[in-house]
Amino acid sequence: MALYDSFGRSINYLRLSVTDRCNLRCMYCMPAAGMPSIQHSDVLSYEELLRVAEAAVAIGVEKIRVTGGEPLVRKGIIPFLERLAVIPGLKRLVLTTNGILLPEMAAELRCAGVESLNISLDSFRPDTFSSITRGGDVQQVLKGIIAAEKAGFKLIKINVVVMRGVNDDEVAEFAALTIDKPYRVRFIEYMPTLRDDKWKQRTMAGEELLELLSRRFTLRPVKKENMDGPASYYQIDGAAGMIGVITPVSCHFCGECNRIRVTSSGVAKGCLFSTESRDLKPAIRTGDDQAIRDALRFVVNDKPEHHDIAKQVRHHPVLPMSQVGG
Ligand code: SAM
Ligand code: SF4
Repeated sequence: MALYDSFGRSINYLRLSVTDRCNLRCMYCMPAAGMPSIQHSDVLSYEELLRVAEAAVAIGVEKIRVTGGEPLVRKGIIPFLERLAVIPGLKRLVLTTNGILLPEMAAELRCAGVESLNISLDSFRPDTFSSITRGGDVQQVLKGIIAAEKAGFKLIKINVVVMRGVNDDEVAEFAALTIDKPYRVRFIEYMPTLRDDKWKQRTMAGEELLELLSRRFTLRPVKKENMDGPASYYQIDGAAGMIGVITPVSCHFCGECNRIRVTSSGVAKGCLFSTESRDLKPAIRTGDDQAIRDALRFVVNDKPEHHDIAKQVRHHPVLPMSQVGG
């Protein structure tokens, strides 16, 4: 069954957050201090998350991305993924992780039925990585990427949030990684979700980034596939992998947006930057699957045509991505 929003966009993708907790604290995602975790009693149990996933698939969702916070820090995630993977009608189960726990978990994730991984890595330099993540060890993520490859993940996407003056001098090195490795290295524009005053200086537009890379490499645009998500892809001549550019700020991809989100506390949103949301918890906690489906349909119908984050940063509430499910 195909699901469309009121602007005729096909909605087939759910980003499902399983936790707001994390073993890192990235500078662009969480404030340095003062962000209480969601109370345990408000976090959906795995049974409840499955109910949401089943309801989403029943109304037309075909791809689910499990995210967070850091999904791999939640206890019992592997058996949950195993159950998610076999929901009839679900075509793709994928997961986003910071990679820290991948060295020990990559093989289990593959066996559980996760088809592909997005791994966040913003710098190869230990000191820069540690400062962006407030204490993370880059070696652990690099080992995690190798572990994912060994575990048989054919599609590994590496997400790089580009920040001028922080890691923009590493973009060529990241791009060059795709020459020998079949990875998709995706450069994401830094979004002012924490209402950083200096965000305009920090955000590097996708266009500028492409120009920078084109001085160094010959880039060929690659045609998108269905369910590919918001990235525009390019390939360096003869490379094994691809380069992606994701431009949520400069020329947002709203026209082709195919997603909805549900947070770990059961709040459904049609757009990351929309203040509109629907709390699914009452329906979930009374076991009313029809009401969950109706609420998700409402969120799909209510999806705004586009967001205006670049114009409205000051009026926007602080939006830690760890809570909303990045
Ligand atoms: N912990 C996992 C991880 O880091 O991959 C999954 C959750 S994280 C919120 C999902 C993605 O959101 C990451 O790739 C992260 O880089 C991205 N993200 C978070 N805040 C962002 C921001 N302000 N601008 C751009 N990307 C952001
Ligand atoms: Fe944690 Fe991911 Fe947010 Fe970094 S981006 S703090 S790893 S949830």
